[in-house]
Amino acid sequence: MFKGFTRFLHSPGEQLKPLLDSPESTTDALSPRIIPRSEHPVSRQQMSDAALKVLYRLNSAGFDAYLVGGCIRDALLGKMPKDFDVATNATPEQVRDLFRNSRMIGRRFRIVHVRFGREVIEVTTFRGQPQDEHGDHIAQQSDAGLLLRDNVWGNIEEDALRRDFTVNALYYNIADFTIHDFANGARDIESRTLRLIGDPATRYREDPVRMLRAVRFAAKLDFTIEPNTEAPMYELAPLLLQIPPARLFDEVLKLFMSGNGLITFRLLSHYNLFGMLFPEAEEAMADAAWAEELIEQALTNTDKRIAEDRPVTPAFLLAAFLWAPVAHRQAELERDGMPAIPALQTAAQEVVARQLQHTSIPKRFGMPMRDIWELQARLPMRRGKRAFQTREHPRFRAAYDLLLLREQAGEIPRGLGDWWTAFQQGDEHEQLRLLQKVGSDPASQGDRRRKKRRKPRKAEQ
Ligand code: ATP
Ligand code: MG
Repeated sequence: MFKGFTRFLHSPGEQLKPLLDSPESTTDALSPRIIPRSEHPVSRQQMSDAALKVLYRLNSAGFDAYLVGGCIRDALLGKMPKDFDVATNATPEQVRDLFRNSRMIGRRFRIVHVRFGREVIEVTTFRGQPQDEHGDHIAQQSDAGLLLRDNVWGNIEEDALRRDFTVNALYYNIADFTIHDFANGARDIESRTLRLIGDPATRYREDPVRMLRAVRFAAKLDFTIEPNTEAPMYELAPLLLQIPPARLFDEVLKLFMSGNGLITFRLLSHYNLFGMLFPEAEEAMADAAWAEELIEQALTNTDKRIAEDRPVTPAFLLAAFLWAPVAHRQAELERDGMPAIPALQTAAQEVVARQLQHTSIPKRFGMPMRDIWELQARLPMRRGKRAFQTREHPRFRAAYDLLLLREQAGEIPRGLGDWWTAFQQGDEHEQLRLLQKVGSDPASQGDRRRKKRRKPRKAEQ
């Protein structure tokens, strides 16, 4: 049976059918289907030592301890889980008391992080329905300032039904290695289906970020979003505008920095979700074909780098996402007489200020993002020592990459990118020759704009 399950996952067929037809297989989510160890492929070898330690210690202290969420979903799909979430009937205080290396975090959801070196195991207490009177209300014990109604404890059934997708509500019990399936998640794993638990529109209204999660999992797992789960998204997409920018930024990182950025972007656009995250980028794409091409290319390159285990930075992607609106505004300001660099800086400031109402952009990404933009105005200016100075800028490489994308996407004619390619590859002699070419060639956009310098106008806000 073990083999049967695994094989079934690869080629939908007959192996798991007996299980699905078994009497326990029911749509009544409150009676779980319990899949014995012999009938599922999830093994302790797929789990980290840290996760196992947490599970065993909770268990031997008399608590229930399950692995749940992405790690079980991914293990069933034959992928190596990357992080482990534990669900238990121990309260956060009880968990904290069991692990010296733990701390309580979270406001919306109070959870405990147990740390082992660099690995963190997230331990959550079963949650019930906020309005459920049977839920054991723990509010009195909590610190001041907690959103109390989000910390109502419940039993495992209630906990399962509060989770988002059926495939995320599979619980692996460390006591007997069974998997408890409250929402037919195993069936949906087999058919590679993403299905919200409960009424989709209600679940999206409760938490609109679930729409982003649907797209993220569909892209990452190559799952189909089930029609009822899919249908309300187009219309409910604007609910994302109510989500705090910091939370949306966290989601943006997961959406685009996990190696499936391009397909994620296409799905987001399809469901009208991309415009809720980056409205000005969306507008710019409607105005100019190159804007979309540039974003697609940036994501293609990022996905490729991730696949090759090379480093990637969100700063570059953000710079690419927002470049078209910045360039558009810069052009307007230049038409009004502002020189290139101040126009670019002003445009950047305006676009970022508006973007921050949708997603936050932490300084560690925002600063390099602006540098990458500003260098776009410096890259054409190569005379004298300038090319050498620009070459030494810490963001030169990223700025050069963006320049190549702009040429590739058709925003600007090709030429400058090739010049910089040659300049980087050339020896001293070749570099001097290239610099002379800039000096003598009126067609190569040198820093001639300086001549037109006028007093910068005060930026409009
Ligand atoms: P991954 O870690 O691969 O991104 P994951 O499914 O583990 O995927 P997490 O964000 O780590 O995602 O969340 C862990 C689990 O918590 C989920 O599997 C799901 O059961 C539950 N969960 C997370 N976010 C929500 C949400 N917005 N609404 C309902 N349940 C959620
Ligand atoms: Mg997870």
